[in-house]
Amino acid sequence: MRDESNRGDGGVPHLSPEEFRELGHRLVDWVADYQQRLESFPVRSQVAPGEVASKLPLRPPEEGLDGVKGWDAVLKDLEDVILPGVTHWQSPSFFAYFPANASGPAVLGELLSAGLGVQGMLWSTSPAATELETRVVDWLVDLLGLPEDFRSTSARGGGVIQGTASEATLVAMVAARERVRRGGAPADSEWVAYASTQAHSSVLKAAMLCGVAHGAEDTTHVRLIETNDRYGMRPELLERAILQDLEAGRVPFFVCATVGSTSSGAVDPVRAIGEVMARTPVRSTGGWLHIDAAWAGSALVCPEHRDLLDSMNRVDSFAFNPHKWLLTNFDCNAFFTRDRQALLDALSVTPEYLRNAASASGAVIDYRDWQVPLGRRFRALKLWFVLRHYGAKGLRAHIREHVRLAKCFESWVKEDARFELAVPRSLSLVCFRLKPLPGESAKDTDARNRELLERVNASGKVFLTHTVLPSVEEAPARYILRMAIGAATTEERHVRAAWELLVASVR
Ligand SMILES: *Cc1c(COP(=O)(O)O)cnc(C)c1O
Repeated sequence: MRDESNRGDGGVPHLSPEEFRELGHRLVDWVADYQQRLESFPVRSQVAPGEVASKLPLRPPEEGLDGVKGWDAVLKDLEDVILPGVTHWQSPSFFAYFPANASGPAVLGELLSAGLGVQGMLWSTSPAATELETRVVDWLVDLLGLPEDFRSTSARGGGVIQGTASEATLVAMVAARERVRRGGAPADSEWVAYASTQAHSSVLKAAMLCGVAHGAEDTTHVRLIETNDRYGMRPELLERAILQDLEAGRVPFFVCATVGSTSSGAVDPVRAIGEVMARTPVRSTGGWLHIDAAWAGSALVCPEHRDLLDSMNRVDSFAFNPHKWLLTNFDCNAFFTRDRQALLDALSVTPEYLRNAASASGAVIDYRDWQVPLGRRFRALKLWFVLRHYGAKGLRAHIREHVRLAKCFESWVKEDARFELAVPRSLSLVCFRLKPLPGESAKDTDARNRELLERVNASGKVFLTHTVLPSVEEAPARYILRMAIGAATTEERHVRAAWELLVASVR
């Protein structure tokens, strides 16, 4: 017989606070144990497609669980069905993509956010959700050394937490288009956005979403500018493209500069791009410069990395992901703009049912007007916990340790005659490959590198990923391996073990 004591009048089997406490303690223990046994799992999940689904019932359960006791079965499935299908992003030997590092304080903040169950779309729907968020994003302005006019207390600027860098780019793009439209460009203009060939695919996706680009192949309305041999945008080619477009009657309205590209950590010349926009009529017609620093932005907590951004003078918005490399579990993007009114102009719509005195007074921020969805979670809590727990010193130490480890790895690559760096190290990202053998074709070098990567990943001991760097200045395109260091648990011994495994796997 199930215990009926917690049922309300409607017979709904909620957990009582006491049951929740008991189960909650078990699950917090589970997560702490998981942290302790992280190294015992293959880093990359080894299941075949459909394997997890095949162990799950096709139909939902008709009967719920038999109280807390019934949860034993759920926890067993968690171990037997779910865990084998998990790739362990928090493993100290996870070096793939970019990190998505989590931390104890962030996980607890997430738990609290779920426990409060607040929906913070308007200031009035939970004042603390808005005011804490405003304060922590302003703290980030200090921590990263961003311009004062990105602060919420400045005359026209402010920051907000978006879900992802992709949403940040979309929001910047629609704000830009609306600003240029209000400046006099016809609404049905042929809009053109610019980024480098190395920009993240989310720039193209944003243009597709807001109707600027007609499909993923539309290189007329999203111009991907060629790069130099370090994969940074060539500003003179941006200028040429803008002038061609103006000549053809199109309307350049948005440039996305990447600081720390996803492929190779490349950095676009922000100052020169801003100068191009100022020299051509782009800036004077309201055109917008957005910085996508999704991964590398976190490194700005260290003053020694602030030269990544050679100038912020003409930057309209800047976004980075604390959910990549600042110990705040996914999702958490910090977005800053100098022109908050442009966001409101593009995104604010007020139906009667959301009207309220606080909003009408103009004295409060309603973050729903700064983002795509209406509803929003209390994400500021996890960022607040992280910032308070680690402090600026702790965050700097975290970034510096990963950069130090990447320098070690870089030096081992350089010392081994069989390997080479593909591009100079970027912060904690090392792009490298097996050198071409004498007389070997580019295709065969690529194949040897691909096979090496597959061998090390199949071992389950590490997980690295690859990219293809495009052909520049006569040099052919290259398949290369990426060593992206950034898990909170990674120590020097893990980086050394990864290198030793790579070396031992060369055939
Ligand atoms: C990871 C990454 C993105 C996408 O991040 P999301 O937050 O997942 O949207 C965008 N730009 C760059 C440069 C990235 O590295």
